[in-house]
Amino acid sequence: MTSHNVMEDVVYEYLEKHWRDIPVACHCDQCKTDVYTLSLNHLTPYYANTVSGAMYAKADLMTVQSRANILAVLTTSAKTVSQHPHHANN
Ligand SMILES: [Zn+2]
Repeated sequence: MTSHNVMEDVVYEYLEKHWRDIPVACHCDQCKTDVYTLSLNHLTPYYANTVSGAMYAKADLMTVQSRANILAVLTTSAKTVSQHPHHANN
């Protein structure tokens, strides 16, 4: 049996599309991974173990309210990562 956190997909897809628009001090891959990981720590996981369950979960996470919540968490994470970057050479 495998269960999958659909929230990971949604946050990943959002970052892939909008990373350049996220207000963060640095847009390198390390900072992107940091924002992704930090955001997932602050968002409620949404697990599914079937394809149809994952599709339903995804639709649920695509509502205006849910997207606004995810974006708010991403923005907060971007702020934290900007203040405490993990990458070298800064
Ligand atoms: Zn960086």
